[in-house]
Amino acid sequence: MVENLNLFTSTQEVIKDGLHKLGFGEEMYELLKEPMRMMTVRIPVRMDDGSVQVFTGFRAQHNDSVGPTKGGVRFHPDVDEEEVKAMSMWMTIKCGIVDLPYGGGKGGIVCDPRTMSMNEIERLSRGYVRAISQIVGPTKDIPAPDVFTNSQIMAWMMDEYSHLRENDSPGFITGKPIVLGGSQGREKATAQGVTICIEEAAKKRGLKIQDARIVIQGFGNAGSFLSKFLYDAGAKIVGISDAYGALHDPDGLDIDYLLDRRDSFGTVTTLFENTISNKELFELDCDIIVPAAVANQITAENAPNIKASIVVEAANGPTTEEATRILTDKGVLLVPDVLASAGGVTVSYFEWVQNNQGYYWTEEEVNEKLRTKLIEAFENVYHTAETRKINMRLAAYMVGLRNTAEASRFRGWV
Ligand code: NAD
Repeated sequence: MVENLNLFTSTQEVIKDGLHKLGFGEEMYELLKEPMRMMTVRIPVRMDDGSVQVFTGFRAQHNDSVGPTKGGVRFHPDVDEEEVKAMSMWMTIKCGIVDLPYGGGKGGIVCDPRTMSMNEIERLSRGYVRAISQIVGPTKDIPAPDVFTNSQIMAWMMDEYSHLRENDSPGFITGKPIVLGGSQGREKATAQGVTICIEEAAKKRGLKIQDARIVIQGFGNAGSFLSKFLYDAGAKIVGISDAYGALHDPDGLDIDYLLDRRDSFGTVTTLFENTISNKELFELDCDIIVPAAVANQITAENAPNIKASIVVEAANGPTTEEATRILTDKGVLLVPDVLASAGGVTVSYFEWVQNNQGYYWTEEEVNEKLRTKLIEAFENVYHTAETRKINMRLAAYMVGLRNTAEASRFRGWV
């Protein structure tokens, strides 16, 4: 049997299963199996050499029964319609798991910002906002950063939207610089959330973080902060990687040294000669694996060789359905992406709340609120998995879909 690597159709399968287990019928699945709205736009950008390049962008809004939709914008050459649709569906589930008053949204532009100047990236970001302006806004759909987008890009997007609406609109977008209404703790929020999930999962398996040997794939925003938190907590980070290869040391890597040397795209392995491949990284002797890079990394091919007893998904969609089954059968505790990486959207929500009230919290307050939400969410999903005797992914989908399905029913849509 050929393994299903299509993120969109494999997400539909779990949504179907989750809704069925919650007692909802076929009509609810018909509503939630696709985003309710998908916009494709063409964005002409004047490049520095005077030529015009036309980029393709997307914005998907999965379901807004609970509240406005919310989700990041990705700048990447591989972005496509199906991936954006799947990611908007995951955002609905993430928001439901941490009980935020949002549905899921997601956006993307097919481009490679690594080959563009800052001026070109600014013109592209502003062009995207003009193109999707009819369907987004602080009470409609709120974008945020994702792969290869950052707080500077959010600032340009917020500025463009504020010009269009002729009023200052900090609540239009999250992940902004602090001086423009960004939240304390937002930059590290995803990694904080993953760390909390790792701590909770380790407790369930009787493992101390100080004794744990951890492998992290990806050394970007999520992977770098995460490795720092775990390293400072005393864990041995025995492997890390980026798009070009992986570094391995059974005695633990010097994370501070590597963080000093990584570039802004999360690349560090190119500075070393004795690297191993990303494939070998997953098969290392370790207790915990954290995929924090791209999708479809743990597959039916390498899942049987994984030695870790805990896998915590910081990336979106890193484990295929078949690999999830294999790991579950092996007794691995798999903490799914929709739960483990929900820290980012949680602090994005805090940012939006602070923008709406015009009153700002300290980093300690933000981190405390984040911890409370994530621990509650972890317990809820873990308890559902245990009592229903299902894997954590299906349990997370059940917990995450409930709000949206019930709100859709109360509104009389289904
Ligand atoms: P990033 O762009 O900052 O870093 C990505 C890292 O992955 C880099 O080190 C890059 O070299 C590496 N990488 C890219 N392609 C790779 C490949 N084929 N094999 C191995 N490594 C590869 O991105 P990020 O913000 O850290 O996001 C990483 C993952 O976490 C993504 O799946 C993203 O959707 C997810 N995530 C991020 C956030 C956030 O707030 N940053 C929130 C939720 C989920």
